[in-house]
Amino acid sequence: MNVGIIGAGITGLTAAYDLTRMGHQVTIYEARPYAGGLAAGFSDPRWEWPLERFYHHWFASDREVLGLIDELGASARTFFPRPTTSIYHQGHIYPFDSPLRVLRFTPLPLIDRLRVGVVTLYLRMLRNWHPLERVTAAEWTRRAVGQRAYEVLWKPLLISKFGEQNYQDVNMAWFWARLYKRTPRLGYFEGGFQGLVDLLVERVRAQGGVVQLNTHVRGIYPTEGQIKLKLDGGEAQHNQVIATCSPRALHVRTPALPPDYATSLDNLKSMGAVVLILALRHRLTDGHYWINMPKSEGIPFMGLVEHTNYISPEHYDGDHLVYCGDYLEPEHPYFSYSKEQLLETYLPGLVRVNPDFRPDWVRASWMFTEPYAQPVPTLDHSRNIPPLRTPIPGLWAANMSQVYPWDRGTNYAVELGRRVATALGAAG
Ligand SMILES: Cc1cc2nc3c(=O)[nH]c(=O)nc-3n(C[C@H](O)[C@H](O)[C@H](O)COP(=O)(O)OP(=O)(O)OC[C@H]3O[C@@H](n4cnc5c(N)ncnc54)[C@H](O)[C@@H]3O)c2cc1C
Repeated sequence: MNVGIIGAGITGLTAAYDLTRMGHQVTIYEARPYAGGLAAGFSDPRWEWPLERFYHHWFASDREVLGLIDELGASARTFFPRPTTSIYHQGHIYPFDSPLRVLRFTPLPLIDRLRVGVVTLYLRMLRNWHPLERVTAAEWTRRAVGQRAYEVLWKPLLISKFGEQNYQDVNMAWFWARLYKRTPRLGYFEGGFQGLVDLLVERVRAQGGVVQLNTHVRGIYPTEGQIKLKLDGGEAQHNQVIATCSPRALHVRTPALPPDYATSLDNLKSMGAVVLILALRHRLTDGHYWINMPKSEGIPFMGLVEHTNYISPEHYDGDHLVYCGDYLEPEHPYFSYSKEQLLETYLPGLVRVNPDFRPDWVRASWMFTEPYAQPVPTLDHSRNIPPLRTPIPGLWAANMSQVYPWDRGTNYAVELGRRVATALGAAG
């Protein structure tokens, strides 16, 4: 088969890797000048390793991606430090990533801490998540741990991921999946996630696949048993096409989609992401990798990730690398801010984290945004997920909104890429 793939993110690259191995002819069209999508890195001339545009790590339970890395012969390049994950509460930072640390979280009465511990244990032992998608995470967790612990711990987490508008709509199966898969050790790749992306591109090319960067697919049209792709300055024909772009982008580019199907794509809610990355001359926090920052405390971002408290600064010429990130509706004004405006908005938050912080600690900064970054799984989401095979023969959809109940991630992009390649291979 002659297969076209829209997008050189991890889903598209994995599908291409499997399809070229099966002997199919594959061309990937990637709009951006680089491969890797949300997991791609960028470089600073001083650094040894590129850094992800959006903070990334793996859990030890991420079997699909670790299995693929093994197949690529690169397992020796993965390593699993045990960094500290914490929460910010009323001016203090509390490590919060082990049962003992939950017990030591003194802002909550002991009875609440014990309740949180028991509920977490129950959720980690639970296997059948299906009934949980019929109740919201907000309602379930409030009932399970009580109003006080919910307000301090889990409500801020839900708001930070899904915003004030959506947090009450997210189903409990998603929340269960987050707790179930989490591991204290977090995995990384020598050379960053971009190292894995480069390896995949290299392997796809070695197997005869074509990866065309800077090639935006503007339109998708079924014609005479084939799919025609309209590209900037040209077109291409394929027997089969896999679209790994967002559901909305697929709808907009495919006028022939039946209205019911197009509406089902539009009904899939999602959040965008905004991050500011700072290369600092000094360490910002005392060894914390990830700090959840509750919006209710007036902090202008939801998460502070000090990457170099996880991966040694020696790979970044001694820079201390900090992400300030947030998930926001794609219409939020921050998406049209300049980097300087965002820096000015976020700087007071850094002082709250470390009162000694001064703007002259910042050696360099970068800003990245992405309108489709986090799907919002609402009640009974399993019924809303569009199948891989679209109503147009030969056109397949494989995007983050089809990952469920697991939180989207590169592990599930690998799983999805493999699933669509297998289905397409079988259909041919
Ligand atoms: C803030 C943030 C933090 C994250 N943290 C983690 C983490 O810690 N661990 C983890 O494993 N995962 C994490 N993820 C998720 C992970 O990055 C994604 O799940 C995964 O990369 C999705 O891969 P994908 O190929 O499905 O989509 P994408 O990476 O979005 O790839 C789609 C590609 O399609 C291209 N494209 C779109 N439209 C067109 C078009 N019309 N023509 C041509 N090309 C097009 C895009 O440019 C893009 O390259 C995070 C994501 C974000 C946003």
